[in-house]
Amino acid sequence: MVVVLEKNISDKLIENVIKHLEDFGFAVHKSTGVEQIILGAIGVKPDFDTRKVKILDGVAEVYRITEPYKLASRTFQKNDTVIKIKDISIGANEVVMMAGPCSIENEDQIFTIAEIVAKSGAKILRGGAFKPRTSPYAFQGLGEEGLKLIRKAADKYNLLVITEVMESNQIELIQEYTDIFQVGARNMQNFSLLRDLGKITKPIMLKRGLSATVEDWLMSAEYILSSGNREVMLCERGIRTFETSTRNTFDLSAIPVVHKRSHLPVIADPSHATGLRDKVLPMARAAVAAGADGLMVEVHNDPEKALSDGPQALLPDQYLELMNQVKLIAGVIGRTM
Ligand code: PEP
Ligand code: MN
Repeated sequence: MVVVLEKNISDKLIENVIKHLEDFGFAVHKSTGVEQIILGAIGVKPDFDTRKVKILDGVAEVYRITEPYKLASRTFQKNDTVIKIKDISIGANEVVMMAGPCSIENEDQIFTIAEIVAKSGAKILRGGAFKPRTSPYAFQGLGEEGLKLIRKAADKYNLLVITEVMESNQIELIQEYTDIFQVGARNMQNFSLLRDLGKITKPIMLKRGLSATVEDWLMSAEYILSSGNREVMLCERGIRTFETSTRNTFDLSAIPVVHKRSHLPVIADPSHATGLRDKVLPMARAAVAAGADGLMVEVHNDPEKALSDGPQALLPDQYLELMNQVKLIAGVIGRTM
């Protein structure tokens, strides 16, 4: 940590800041510049609250130089994490597609969509059985019945399943049916759920919270990793900003930012990020170009009648076109799809 002291600070205040830093357990190195004094506080303390120093008299600025997350960081692990599930690798050269409806609605719907998803060459079928809806009156998902349907549909078309878990008490049930657990944006900081997911042996896809910084997001990943599960991938799904033309603001730059700070795979979800069907294809192209290790997109055979997120669901033909286009982009940057 670097502590910049105010100009013309008295010796007494300097001594006071140094004493506090030493009491916090840091070794202190003092450098006197032309105008200001800088203190280097040496000691690895990932959970140290820098505000304890910021509020001391005579302190102008405090900069943290080590990340507060450890297991998620590139410093800890240089090589990319590659998550292998059956014959699929997430985080390697191949860009992985996860597609399907927002919610599993009925047998006919999920089988129809699974067939389209498989035909496109995608490997993973998405679909929620437990839905985090803003309104308690909106469709909340089919629960176990939905899990059974998505598993059956995925097995018929040789696909993997990703589905959302909202509460710790659903883990055991969902585990029987899914290959990957999805943690939704609204649960990114449900720390007890993250800890419990750290104790299982299936991969977790952690979506970015609606107003989470990259650091918040990586700290949440750290909860799962530090509880024992090292198979974590992240998913950028748009964040809340002042802009209202799209449902969320797709933070594309988060993809290279996370890749630099962390070894974990990054998936991009242009469906929730934009919330509008006609914006999904261009942003999917952009996400692959930006280096996403996979895409998650919503597709529906009859989006007008969809029980959730119909306006952002691609029609089957649009989805197939998206696959054609993103494969081309992947090729341009030397990746397969
Ligand atoms: C979803 O994937 O359907 C979903 C609810 O996503 P998010 O948590 O990103 O809103
Ligand atoms: Mn959705």
